Amino acid sequence: MIVGINCGHTISGQPGSGAVGYISESSETRAVGYSLMYYLRERGVTVIDCTNDRASSTQENLREIVDMANRQPLDLFVSIHFNSGGGRGTEVYTYNGERFRQAELVCENMEKLGFINRGIKNGSNLYVIRRTNARAMLVEVCFVDTRSDVDLYKKVTAQGVAQAIGDAILGEDFEEELTMAQYEELKKLIADQTARVDVLQNEVYKLQNPMIYNYIDNNMPEWARTAVKWCVDNGIIVGTGDGLNLDDTKLWTCVVIYRLAMSLE
Ligand SMILES: [Zn+2]
Repeated sequence: MIVGINCGHTISGQPGSGAVGYISESSETRAVGYSLMYYLRERGVTVIDCTNDRASSTQENLREIVDMANRQPLDLFVSIHFNSGGGRGTEVYTYNGERFRQAELVCENMEKLGFINRGIKNGSNLYVIRRTNARAMLVEVCFVDTRSDVDLYKKVTAQGVAQAIGDAILGEDFEEELTMAQYEELKKLIADQTARVDVLQNEVYKLQNPMIYNYIDNNMPEWARTAVKWCVDNGIIVGTGDGLNLDDTKLWTCVVIYRLAMSLE
């Protein structure tokens, strides 16, 4: 997977630099963006740094970014920004507001960190979304001029945000194939469960179809034969024309009666 990452805007003080509130957008896009690049590279992603630090204007900055992104085929282009204007939470801009999985996961993962999920919005009018060839998303992490957002951001740290966004980018790979060891473990688990179901089905079958003993022969359990014979001999049980018609419970009853009789002798 090849991903282009852009730390939004030029650096602080330059033309095209970002919003400033309790924190500076330009500084924090770099803190999050470079953590994100490191995080993705550690996980085997080829990362193209599409950050432009200096430009004579906002237009030049944006053109530079898009040129860097379009220099090679990318699977995804991600631009990191911070919002301003006094709202709260995270929002993600995509072309036509398309709700692709990685964009949705950014919102969901940031929500797990405690940021309000402002959802996916239409970013077709944003230069870096419109002009990049690859599928693109622009992440507005949180608001630089809202105290509670900045406090949460500082608590979570740029690395935490980078990890949330990084996991979202990797999200489509989470359904990776099982390793051989996982496959064997799963196969064993299924075999164990199947064996237990077999035992249960057997028990249910026995309950629904109780064994009936009509004769004192080898079919009757040995532990019951003497007792049953004694009961027959003493007229306690009487067979019908078809035999004794004894189930397991009746066998046990014969045994109890027989032992009681023996103990009284
Ligand atoms: Zn911005």
